[in-house]
Amino acid sequence: MSKLDQVVKDIVAEMQERSDRGEVATYIPELAGVDPKAFGLAVIDADGQLACGGDCDTSFSIQSISKVFTLTFALGMIGDRLWRRVGREPSGSPFNSIVQLERERGIPRNPFINAGAIVVTDLILSGHQPREALGEILRFLQFLADDSSITIDAAVAASENRTGFRNRALANYMKSFSVLENPVDFTLGVYFHHCAIAMSCRQLAMAGRFLAHHGRNPSTGLLVVQPERARRINAIMLTCGHYDGSGEFAYRVGLPGKSGVGGGILAIAPGRASIAVWSPGLDAAGNSHLGRLALEELTKRMGWSIFGGN
Ligand code: GLN
Repeated sequence: MSKLDQVVKDIVAEMQERSDRGEVATYIPELAGVDPKAFGLAVIDADGQLACGGDCDTSFSIQSISKVFTLTFALGMIGDRLWRRVGREPSGSPFNSIVQLERERGIPRNPFINAGAIVVTDLILSGHQPREALGEILRFLQFLADDSSITIDAAVAASENRTGFRNRALANYMKSFSVLENPVDFTLGVYFHHCAIAMSCRQLAMAGRFLAHHGRNPSTGLLVVQPERARRINAIMLTCGHYDGSGEFAYRVGLPGKSGVGGGILAIAPGRASIAVWSPGLDAAGNSHLGRLALEELTKRMGWSIFGGN
């Protein structure tokens, strides 16, 4: 058994034993019923070797992790012009906060808070029907993960559509500054659906490989994005990927990462591995409690923090 296999096995066993699991998100009613005891971890190294354990093949709602892929896709469509409509500074605010938008005239701080991700979705939607835009996003994820079985959980999307009052407020507010081009309901429809994409840790780790390997899928050798773009997306994941918990995540884990309220985290060890972890219970900032702890242990034991040491 390789060192990585052993470390993953130990961490999964340790996490499954813990009783401090955080709180499962309930503001999207469909997510409230997810088993808080679930735990999965998948790591794919530079040679394509997979180490995984626990519920690593169970699908969960990727929620805001989809924002990494919509950002990548939108940059591919319009390049750096994207940065005219959204910033790239940490917000220091919760994921669904509205306060900065007024001061900053409807321009969201970064593409990973809800407001910023809604703008990115609006960019992808322009010139398309909502169904087409959604199909493009889903196919991009299927391509990255090399898995055409990935789908959208329609019940989760409908559940968020019914209760997404905050996101409606954010979108309408930005629309008042003409930051959104499309009808608010169209943009939000696409946004709720890409947040509702369901994937397992194994599929998610597969989809993240290009970020760990200078923009290239290491098994096919295909360039997904230029190395410079992969580096920059990783930088935004490090600084903004966990909302107002981003500093703490960098301090404890030391990797670019993106969380979702479904309890998943995609983390990138540049040059080394793509990692996905899932534990549905969240901390106060809306990030997976045990997911973060597991990643902290993984980077410590493997010496993978981008800041060196362990
Ligand atoms: N769809 C969720 C929302 O907009 C995503 C939030 C998250 O995962 N942090 O509230």
